[in-house]
Amino acid sequence: MPADQCPRGHLTPTAAERDARGHCRQCERDRAKANRVSDSMRLTMVRAFEDAGVQFVDDDGQPVAAAEVVRQLAALYAAGALPAA
Ligand SMILES: [Zn+2]
Repeated sequence: MPADQCPRGHLTPTAAERDARGHCRQCERDRAKANRVSDSMRLTMVRAFEDAGVQFVDDDGQPVAAAEVVRQLAALYAAGALPAA
């Protein structure tokens, strides 16, 4: 890796522009954007399942266990309540 580049090849003329792992501000911006896209996709999926009747949060505001979410999905699928692909 050239001395003036981060591990992803962005031009970072001085080490002060890189963090402890060698990544630069552009790496951080890229990572933050990827996280926003992932968060958005997860939210879209949760909303689609909630619209179909799946509860991800119980009546006390606590997160529902993953196994319970799967059970709900299976029950909705068996009842024909999920939209067809
Ligand atoms: Zn970088």
